Amino acid sequence: MPIHKWSHTYFGIPYWVTVLQDFHIILPRRHHRIHHVAPHETYFCITTGWLNYPLEKLGFWTCLEWAIQTLFSCKPRTDDLKWAQRKD
Ligand SMILES: [Zn+2]
Repeated sequence: MPIHKWSHTYFGIPYWVTVLQDFHIILPRRHHRIHHVAPHETYFCITTGWLNYPLEKLGFWTCLEWAIQTLFSCKPRTDDLKWAQRKD
């Protein structure tokens, strides 16, 4: 998804993209940076980011992780490096 990619890109993106980011129409770089700080457990919305703050304040992500862990016995973030590996 280009919006997420642009939130990681600091050079070479079109000016209109930076305007949309600055007005928080699409995911701003500084906003998305919060998600990538350890322990990587919040701000999962990667299109506009509009719901990140209210969902965090409601404890949505914590509840969702608890539900997934309870239902499927999957511990959050235990396989992060597995899917980030190169696929040659
Ligand atoms: Zn990202």
